[in-house]
This record gives sequence, C-alpha cells and structure tokens, in this order.
Amino acid sequence: MKSVKDIQVAGRRVMVRVDYNLPMDENLNISDDNRILQTLPLIEYLVQNRAKIILISHMGRPKGKVVTALSLKPAALRLSELLKQPVGFISDCIGTEVQKKVSELNDGDILLLENLRFHEGEKSGDPDFVKQLASLCDVYVNDAFAVSHRKEASIVALPGMINDSAAGFLLEKELLCYRDAVQNPVRPLVAVIGGAKVSSKLDALKNMLNHVNTLIIGGAMANTFLKSQGVDTGASLIEEDLVETAADIIIDARKKGVTLHLPVDLVFASSFDNSADKVTVGTGIDLSIDAGHVPEGWMALDIGGQTAQLFAYAISGAKTIVWNGPMGVFEMERFCDGTRVIAKAIAESAAFSVVGGGDTGLAAKVCGVENQVSYISTGGGAFLHLMEGKELPGARALEKC
Ligand code: AMP
Repeated sequence: MKSVKDIQVAGRRVMVRVDYNLPMDENLNISDDNRILQTLPLIEYLVQNRAKIILISHMGRPKGKVVTALSLKPAALRLSELLKQPVGFISDCIGTEVQKKVSELNDGDILLLENLRFHEGEKSGDPDFVKQLASLCDVYVNDAFAVSHRKEASIVALPGMINDSAAGFLLEKELLCYRDAVQNPVRPLVAVIGGAKVSSKLDALKNMLNHVNTLIIGGAMANTFLKSQGVDTGASLIEEDLVETAADIIIDARKKGVTLHLPVDLVFASSFDNSADKVTVGTGIDLSIDAGHVPEGWMALDIGGQTAQLFAYAISGAKTIVWNGPMGVFEMERFCDGTRVIAKAIAESAAFSVVGGGDTGLAAKVCGVENQVSYISTGGGAFLHLMEGKELPGARALEKC
C-alpha cells in the first residue's frame, strides 16, 4: 500500500475520503469534532504541498436521498475555523456544477463535497457514480479508517479507477497501531473484551486466542461464558444459543495456553435502572470466592469489586494491551465502577495500550483516561474487523492499486 508521501501531489487534484460522519445535536451543531481533528495532519500536509484538495465523506444514513439534516456543510465551516483558511462547499458530490467548482480550485485550496450517501451509488457501488467521482481527481487518498471495513463505492471501487491511490496518515497510523498491538506485540499481550454480546465479537474472540497471552472477559458477554460453566446468572442478558460456543472457547483457550479470566463476582441489580438496588454476588467460578445467591429476577450489570481487582492485576503485568468493550453498563454511573477500575489500570500501566473505537472509546472518555492510553482507535466496526483477523476492504483496494 502506497503512502500519500510516496505520491507527487503539487498542483494535482487530490480527492481525500475522510470520515466526517459527525455527531450533531438537535440544533444541528457539531457535538464532537474529533473526526475532523483527526484529519488535520493530512489536510495541512496537502495544503503545504500545494495540492488541490477535494474532500469526500458520508454522514448518517440518508439512503440515497437528500436529507438536509445530514448535510456536510457544518463540517466545512468547522474545518475552516480549525485550519484558519476558507474551505469551499458544494451541495452535491457529482455533476457539472461540481466539475466547474473543482476546475476553479487553485493549489492549496480545499473543497468539501456534499454527503456521498445522498446518491444510492455510494452504497451500491454503481459504476457510473464511481466514474463521475473519479473524473474529478488525479490522486485518491483514503484517510477514513472508520469506514474502511465497508465496501462502499468511495472506499473500494474508487481507488481502482485512479492511477495514483494511497493511504492517508490516519489510516496508516491505525493500521500500524493495530499491527504493533496484535500482530507483532511486545509480550505479554493482554486483551480485555467486554460489551453487550458474544455474538457481535465471536470472531474477534476466536481470532484473539491465536495472538494473546491473557484474555479477560467482562461485560454482559461474560454472562454467557459463566452460564456455560454452570454459574447462576439470574435474569442477566444471556445468549442461550452461544452457551456451548462459549464453553468451546474456554477449552480452546486452555489448549492454546491462553490464560482466561472470567468474573469471580458480579454486581446484580433489581432492574435495568440507575437507581436500582444492587448487590455483589460471587460466581464461584474458581476457588477465590464462593458462589452466592442471586435474588430472583435480578440481572448482572457490572463486574464485582474482587473481579475488578483481579482483572487490574492481570493488566498490570502486560506489556501490550488491547481493550474492546466495557465491563458493565458504564452509561449508568451506578454500574460504571468495574469499567473505571479497568480503564484506570490500563491508563496506569506502562504497556502499549490500544483502545477500540465506538463504545469503548466513549467509556475511556467517561472514565477520564482518554489521554492516558497509547491510542484510541477512531473506528469501532473497523477495529473489530481487524480483531477478527480480516483485512479491511479499503486497505485491500489500495494494495491492489
Ligand atoms: P459493545 O458495543 O458490544 O461493546 O457493547 C457495549 C454495550 O454493552 C454498552 O452499551 C454497555 O451498556 C453494554 N453492557 C456492558 N455490560 C453489560 C451488562 N452486564 N448488561 C447489559 N449491558 C451491558
């Protein structure tokens, strides 16, 4: 895969696929501009190197129709403020008006095109849509890691239509961090996996067994593992159809010499509610703590204090840490303790620590450790895709060029 630095950009029309799928509040103001901030190094580089910069992105799910609330215009305004230079905007991404605007660009100018998903062709990969986008540029750069696990036109088909295609700085950084964390880690490598469902992370769990020294499982997904070992999980979230699979993963971990940690105690709540009554109950999964009584109808919403200490101790021995998924319902203050202890342990460790995007990135922020870990990925789905051991379609498309 070429890097943008390998390509001559001066005076050329450089189309950059960014991810400006920004969270907006009810007044259509940007509530978090991190995705724009992440692209600044590349855009500043292209400005300094006198490229004609054309930015393309999607926003939300307009399903091939123009939806005013999903316009990228606010992103152009914010980018302009951050760069302290004008950023042009045009209310479509293909067509004669766009061609005209692009032809008027001077070296170092920036133009953001309207939401790609206002055209069905972005999702369907319609060759005519791709051709029209390709006609606007001489160079293609992918800097949208968070979308690179998708097979959309601007990610997969477009680079194939342009002679000079390369990875941007953010995509390179993400792939490099993942490689250093999982494919070529300083050992021991500890993975902390949590979140709601085993099903959504099943492939990642299986693949991580081939890489890690220690696997820590928390969050609701731990319930299915505990159930497979005969633990009473009350009315907790369980995936009955995966109980057997969970048991197989435990056996596989043993075969592969991976140390697997499951919760030794859980915080049960009377209801799914931040003011619910709660009680900590031992799981009896090992000899460290006896199994306790789960009140009828109660559900596990966090790992218990002893588990948190056990997990934190395992984390303290790591040289590399990968964290994906909260240890409990961290969105409710009452059930955030376990996630906070683990986040702090990761932050205090001297290990190289990589945190998955999406909910895990948010959990790191809620726990105040976002500046104390080595790297927080900008992509939840794309990061998980890598953890599953799969290549990103967006990266493969660049390799083929
Ligand atoms: P994921 O996107 O799979 O990482 O899941 C994140 C979600 O899992 C968060 O919204 C958490 O509230 C939820 N979660 C974590 N632990 C539990 C639990 N014990 N019970 C219910 N939901 C949980």
